[in-house]
Amino acid sequence: MFEYAPAPESVRPQIKEHYGLFIDGEFTDAADGAVFKSVNPSTEEALFTVAEAGEADVQAAVAAARRAQESVWGPMSGAERGKYLFRIARLLQERAREFAVAESLDNGKPIKETRDFDVPTAAQHFFYHAGWADKLAYAGLGADPRPLGVIGQVIPWNFPLLMLSWKIAPALACGNTVVLKPAETTPLTALMFAELCQEAELPPGVVNILPGAGATGAALVDSAVDKVAFTGSTAVGRAIAKSIAGSKKKLTLELGGKAANIVFDDAPIDQAVEGIVNGIFFNQGHVCCAGSRLLVQESVADDVLERLKARVETLRVGDPLDKNTDIGAINSAEQLSRIQALAATGGDEGAEVWQPACELPERGFWFRPTVFTGVQQSMRIAKEEIFGPVLSVLTFRTPDEAIAKANNTPYGLSAGVWTEKGSKILWAAERLRAGVVWANTFNQFDAASPFGGLKESGYGREGGRQGLEAYLDV
Ligand code: NDP
Repeated sequence: MFEYAPAPESVRPQIKEHYGLFIDGEFTDAADGAVFKSVNPSTEEALFTVAEAGEADVQAAVAAARRAQESVWGPMSGAERGKYLFRIARLLQERAREFAVAESLDNGKPIKETRDFDVPTAAQHFFYHAGWADKLAYAGLGADPRPLGVIGQVIPWNFPLLMLSWKIAPALACGNTVVLKPAETTPLTALMFAELCQEAELPPGVVNILPGAGATGAALVDSAVDKVAFTGSTAVGRAIAKSIAGSKKKLTLELGGKAANIVFDDAPIDQAVEGIVNGIFFNQGHVCCAGSRLLVQESVADDVLERLKARVETLRVGDPLDKNTDIGAINSAEQLSRIQALAATGGDEGAEVWQPACELPERGFWFRPTVFTGVQQSMRIAKEEIFGPVLSVLTFRTPDEAIAKANNTPYGLSAGVWTEKGSKILWAAERLRAGVVWANTFNQFDAASPFGGLKESGYGREGGRQGLEAYLDV
């Protein structure tokens, strides 16, 4: 393996020492003065302090969003709304490097991912939805689709800016206003986005950002919003669904997954190995649609595993701001201990563990890329979402067995199929119970393509024409 000299990112964003809540176009402290710290997971050093929104702040933000929706944003023509969204998209592009570095600092993910994936894809969502704003009558959702009103949005820490864009861009394009709660451990890019809304001269109250913990999210869900859009764990999604049952609020849920990545014996093995690596080690495995269960046909299993291990040996784990880094830090101490605990059950239940011989930094939260072989379907590592760089490998003999094993999960978010036969791809895609099926690729996203789950992975779609439906009264 080549030795690489360090290639540290040189841009440093201006991170303030303290951020407020963003309500009605202004930054303000919490009504009760509560604050918390955001920590850089690769060094464990505090990055900044931020106000923590309580119930009174949630009410103030929802009231501001209501005023803005009824007086300005709702009545505004689609073409005018589109101009604001285009402006936001352009500003995101202009400040792309700054946002990318900030995201790496606050989240721990490698700069090459924030720079090449998170931020450009976030900008793409604003461009895409800016184009829809004046064409909603042609979306096939009725001649005069109306906005829902005020939307409460709660997002996780794995793709902070990207999840914000998936939520805010379609909501605004459809004439709604929003109150968004970023995850407790990753509020930075949402707060920078609030500054960008000021720069774009977005009317006050159209976007409100409320940092906080689970209690802030729960208060937002319980507030006088017209719809809740949530991405996160199935457990919290279930609690939200219960808490709004019987109300008139609409709900979309994008929840967990335990995707099967199926490699048939006729697959192009080297490409499949790249897809397996991308499927589970992209973003440290903190991906709801991660290909965390590798199902490989028995006749090629030894070959696939040998090449997979050789490839994983080359992955570079470490400083997220080094441009050579493939695997960054785990987002929090809490998530690290969750991964450690679940991975430990793999060994206890009889699976064989393999990790490359990579050195980990002394400070920060790190977990080596891990491959479990000899995995049985009954093991916890085959059933539960680990949300870390941990791959569980199972084998199969016939295509029917592959489908049966792939579908043997309460989740249904994504799946991957590797084969050189087009007919086998179509055959498998028809049978796989997953919202997205990738063929000879993995983790492809596009604003024009709807994304969402089946079964316990949630309901509703984000992106594409289908994603607009979730923000319109049709
Ligand atoms: P959560 O589902 O708890 O968090 C997602 C978001 O919901 C965060 O903003 C969180 O706030 C907020 N939240 C927490 N409790 C409530 C509540 N009762 N009402 C409303 N909002 C709430 O995920 P975690 O971050 O705790 O991660 C736990 C596990 O969930 C992970 O290990 C992973 O398995 C899974 N997960 C799955 C994701 C996916 O996309 N499939 C995304 C994130 C996690 P806060 O940040 O303060 O907790």
